[in-house]
Amino acid sequence: MKHLSRPALLASLLAAALSLPALAGEAATVQPIPAGVTTVTLAQQAPIHWVSVEQIAKSLDGLPPMAVGFDIDDTLLFSSPGFYRGKQEFSPNDESYLKNPAFWEKMNNGWDAFSMPKEVGKALIAMHLKRGDHIYFVTGRSATKTETVSQTLQQTMSIPADQLNPVIFAGDQPGQNTKVQWLKEKQMKVFYGDADGDIKAAQEIGIRGIRLLRAANSSYRPLPLAGALGEEVIINSQF
Ligand SMILES: [Mg+2]
Repeated sequence: MKHLSRPALLASLLAAALSLPALAGEAATVQPIPAGVTTVTLAQQAPIHWVSVEQIAKSLDGLPPMAVGFDIDDTLLFSSPGFYRGKQEFSPNDESYLKNPAFWEKMNNGWDAFSMPKEVGKALIAMHLKRGDHIYFVTGRSATKTETVSQTLQQTMSIPADQLNPVIFAGDQPGQNTKVQWLKEKQMKVFYGDADGDIKAAQEIGIRGIRLLRAANSSYRPLPLAGALGEEVIINSQF
């Protein structure tokens, strides 16, 4: 062993003592070496039909004004803050807040003040207003005696008052797609949504269902597989 002077020996012992807890802590959180990526995995893409808002506009060129519909939550509004709050307050351990009228009273009458409008929603609505289309909102939210959702959408999506159709609260019935009848009744030609149910409702009556991406931090889990129903998916539509 190499001879160390007394101060040097003390210093090295002290350094060893100090580094011991640090090393033990490190060992506990050490991550496995990353598996790494290849250019093939990095470039991997799912074979789905991506479209832009401009391409949708182009596809409608020359067609007369038509009725189009929008889902609301995670399509036009990032409304997870209100749903998150509702779960904390009404059913922290399960999803039963979604069946609680007290939650819907709150959600439909003010909590959308915390919902952020999606940029893609604004762009789509502006495009359809410019075409002179009739715009409808169809939500799976439960109906309440009063609601401020229509007003929130009018303001955040810049919809002229005389072109605003109040929100249709289709509600949620197990084993039933409650939106279908409304898409049919309003004779919609296009329906936009983030959930499989939105796209399936459109496809069921033979109209165009177009998918918007649900934000990755949405409280609504699991995230759906966009494009899996063969539908068009709008690029950059997560916000
Ligand atoms: Mg939705």
